[in-house]
Amino acid sequence: MKIDLSGTTALVTGSTSGIGHAIAKGLATAGAKVIVNGRKQLKVDEAVAALRAAVKGAVIEGVAADVSTAKGCASLVDAVPDVDILINNTGIFEPRDFFDIPDADWQRFFDVNVMSGVRLARAYMPAMLKRNWGRIVFIASESAIMIPKEMIHYGMTKTAQLSVSRGLAELTRGTAVTVNAVMPGPTMSEGVETFVKDLARKNGQSVETAAANFIKEHRPSSLIQRFAKVDEIANMVVYVASREASVTNGAALRAEGGLVPTIA
Ligand code: NAD
Repeated sequence: MKIDLSGTTALVTGSTSGIGHAIAKGLATAGAKVIVNGRKQLKVDEAVAALRAAVKGAVIEGVAADVSTAKGCASLVDAVPDVDILINNTGIFEPRDFFDIPDADWQRFFDVNVMSGVRLARAYMPAMLKRNWGRIVFIASESAIMIPKEMIHYGMTKTAQLSVSRGLAELTRGTAVTVNAVMPGPTMSEGVETFVKDLARKNGQSVETAAANFIKEHRPSSLIQRFAKVDEIANMVVYVASREASVTNGAALRAEGGLVPTIA
């Protein structure tokens, strides 16, 4: 199978770093025109330049917009009125004891992790249905189905993404549009690297030891017993976004190294 996305336009939210950046690179490598998004213009410009340098002949554009707000989403849609592939990747996470999480954090997590995807799907999906082709992928998490007790608010948003994703897939009946969710497990993105480095500093360990211990202690059911690399997650997402993934619709696909111990 050779994935060829030439002729398509893909928008990846939160793609100035981490998993989103790897997805943007993967889609560009497969021939899609890619729109990079982040909140700060400078970061967006840097990411666009990095992708143009990494993928020969790639067509990359960037739009700075905060997708956690209605205004930010509207400005993004103004700048890019139509896409064939929408990857709702933007997401925040922070371990915090349930009893210390204020209302404002619950709302903020919901706005960033859920409403961003809701608003962008509402804007872009009607044209996909009309054209009879399109791909929407929500980057959820294994935390959607194994709620982490150290960040229940995060788990709640990831479960909500699966619900929205499956619901939207129901609206594609009889068309060639698909809506799916991908559930990464622990992945060494920039965001997670910062978290692991803090952990290493606190415990007086090397980053490698802190990473290995984290998996052993907090994610013992992982079959790969390591953090995934961002490219490993991107591979799954590029496949789901491809023309070849034509009968996978309404699914919540695992890319979590076997961490979830159930068969289905
Ligand atoms: P990251 O923090 O490394 O990168 C997140 C990106 O989103 C950054 O480019 C950031 O600038 C951008 N961003 C944040 N808020 C934004 C906003 N309001 N508007 C626009 N851009 C914004 O994160 P990551 O680890 O790569 O995570 C990406 C996605 O993958 C998230 O949805 C996360 O929940 C999910 N995920 C990550 C892991 C993991 O272990 N890294 C595991 C499962 C799921």
